[in-house]
Amino acid sequence: MTTEKFADVILPLAVEGSFTYRIPEELAGEVVPGSRVIVPLGRRKYYAAIVHRIHTEKPDYKTIKSVVSAVDTRPIVTEHQLKLWDWIASYYMCSMGEVMKSAIPSAFKSDGYSENITDSYTVKTRTHLTFSAAISSEKTLHEALDSLKRAKAQYKALIDLAELLSPVDFGAPGSVTKSDFVQAGHASYPVLKALEAKGFLRSFEKEVSRNEAMEAPIDPMPVLTGPQEEAFRSVRTHFGMRKTVLLHGVTGSGKTEIYIHLIREALDTGKDVLYLLPEIALTTQLIERLRLRFGDRVAVYHSRFSDNMRAECYLQVLEEDREPLLIVGARSALLLPHRRLGLVLVDEEHENSYKQYEPAPRYHARDSALMLARISGAASLLGSATPSVESYFNAVTGKYGLVTLTERYGGVSLPNILVSDIIRSARRGERTSLFNRVLLEELDKTLAAGKQAILFQNRRGFAPYTECGACYFVPTCPHCNVSLTYHKATESLTCHYCGYAVPVPPVCPACGAADLQTKGFGTEKIEEELQKIFPQAVIARLDLDSTRSAKGYSRIVSAFAAGKTDILVGTQMVTKGFDFENVTLVGILNADNMLNFPDFRASERSFQLMMQVAGRAGRRNDRGQVIIQTTQPDHPVILQVREGNYEALFRTQIAERQQFLYPPYCRLVRFTLKHAKKEVLNRAVTDFDRAMRKIFGKRLLGPEIPAVDKIRNEYLCGFLLKIERGKSFAEARRLASEAIRSLLKKEGYASLTIIPDVDPQ
Ligand code: ADP
Ligand code: ZN
Repeated sequence: MTTEKFADVILPLAVEGSFTYRIPEELAGEVVPGSRVIVPLGRRKYYAAIVHRIHTEKPDYKTIKSVVSAVDTRPIVTEHQLKLWDWIASYYMCSMGEVMKSAIPSAFKSDGYSENITDSYTVKTRTHLTFSAAISSEKTLHEALDSLKRAKAQYKALIDLAELLSPVDFGAPGSVTKSDFVQAGHASYPVLKALEAKGFLRSFEKEVSRNEAMEAPIDPMPVLTGPQEEAFRSVRTHFGMRKTVLLHGVTGSGKTEIYIHLIREALDTGKDVLYLLPEIALTTQLIERLRLRFGDRVAVYHSRFSDNMRAECYLQVLEEDREPLLIVGARSALLLPHRRLGLVLVDEEHENSYKQYEPAPRYHARDSALMLARISGAASLLGSATPSVESYFNAVTGKYGLVTLTERYGGVSLPNILVSDIIRSARRGERTSLFNRVLLEELDKTLAAGKQAILFQNRRGFAPYTECGACYFVPTCPHCNVSLTYHKATESLTCHYCGYAVPVPPVCPACGAADLQTKGFGTEKIEEELQKIFPQAVIARLDLDSTRSAKGYSRIVSAFAAGKTDILVGTQMVTKGFDFENVTLVGILNADNMLNFPDFRASERSFQLMMQVAGRAGRRNDRGQVIIQTTQPDHPVILQVREGNYEALFRTQIAERQQFLYPPYCRLVRFTLKHAKKEVLNRAVTDFDRAMRKIFGKRLLGPEIPAVDKIRNEYLCGFLLKIERGKSFAEARRLASEAIRSLLKKEGYASLTIIPDVDPQ
């Protein structure tokens, strides 16, 4: 008697729990973990699902359905991947289906209704040209040529091809691209067609890679400096002890050079490397640098790639017999079918964009990468000039190895940081528009010296809001409870939450007065005011609005890199991955709105942001100048930035976190409840509060109405769960999930959404 086999499968749905199907005997060989199968669900639907587990435990369903067919002959999801998915689903409180949805390129997915599910992934090919079997030797080639004596064009084509291929071995003559051959003037298409008809030539399709590798010469490895060499060795020692390493090095100290040496070692031992970056679009410079060192070993993975390109990259990583790869990407690269990683690298580990917020899985790519490294038995390295408080805590308490680089490469000094008081300057009449006099003077000097400047403001648009001068009415978004931002370039009022935009009303919609005034300032206004003061200067703006078009970002950045732009005004975008030698001045227009942000990480974030912006000044020869405008020149964080004193920042922050119980002294889960009707939301909030408080007591904080309490026509309310160290976080998540599940089953809550966000940023 044969034992019946069953498969637990993952469906691309946001439903929890597993789905078990019987494996028909004839499919037993093909249905393996990680492969896709077609399964029925509900009455008439069929889905492509991924096999999670195969076992012999008969489920206690009334009717057990069977797998209809197998899609793959070999798995498209690796064992390590399935383990990581399991961890992500459990830790970040979501379903395996949600993880699968974000991990698998849609070319491999199908929520099809029929049996003929095929991959929409297509291979891109080019037509190649070569000798047919008839020309198998020098002799047969000459015979062929002889027969073409009177067909001049055909004769030329054949002889040119023979020259190009110069086949030593006629059994494997090589090939040329047909279109290249024609374009180079060797032959016309009809001539080639005639030669094919005569049986001398043969054309065939050859696959080309979309992520075509640059054929650049490979640069030699630079020699590490003394301190870099020491850091490099120390990293390896920690790796030897199976410890994650935190590499804390000031901007320009050569962290990337150390990564490059570690990458080479891993590749040389036949292992892959995963190199995570917070935002891949902003790292063209880095990728060029890696290509110069590793050539076509570099595979870049980008969530904004076309689906075909993503699919191709996925298949490339999945391939079994291939050269080891350096896989560079933002957080989603973590979800590729890795199976032989030797090293996992997370650069700028403190960046909060590593956390995915929408949609689920709401995973933190840094933390998930460490889990992936553990699953794969790979070494792991986190790097930053301004580590997150959590990671640094892990380093100083010995959980991670700590390696520090304190000097910039080449003896370049750290920039000189000057704090300029906004209020005092204004009082003394030393302020014009948005700029303190000292900033204007420095800009003047910079321009006169033919150098470049970067001005930073973490707000885009012209003005964050507008207000009627007569009745103080503030235009707000009809779908979100938030004021509309004024964009001068488009003469519109725009919602930064949902994208809603209207032309600026000529009069106040409330009282009819023609006195709508702009309040506060964003990048657009800085650009405009600056142009008035420096009419000769070429000024550009880098923010979400100016980079909406596909080429927008690279156009602005290459103009700046080429020295065509004098001053670049921008948001966070100007802080990332910029390494331009000619930038000697950096201005931070207003540090206050970062410092005053109502969040327990505000100080940490402000420090990181200001240090990062400051690091853009004077990267090579000249000492950079940084000017920070603020109304709080004595704020402790401003002082810490001025001294570049990360240790001081860490000490004050860790003390606060301990006192007020915040990470790393506890774990946080934020719950957001959403509903289109305020009454339903209010009722749900009461029910949630009651159910959760029964379990968690004072560990549950809230309900808290967020500053923006309506987004896209849904009302929002939040709770925060704090689980202190030493208590089981896994158990807490399980209990919370259970409470949510039973709440959602209650009457009237069909369209209620409850979003758990674990480790919110
Ligand atoms: P970080 O990643 O810490 O900001 P980088 O690795 O980018 O620092 O180094 C800063 C600059 O100094 C880069 O232009 C890099 O090429 C150069 N550099 C760093 N170390 C060396 C070295 N050992 N030899 C040659 N150039 C180096
Ligand atoms: Zn809106």
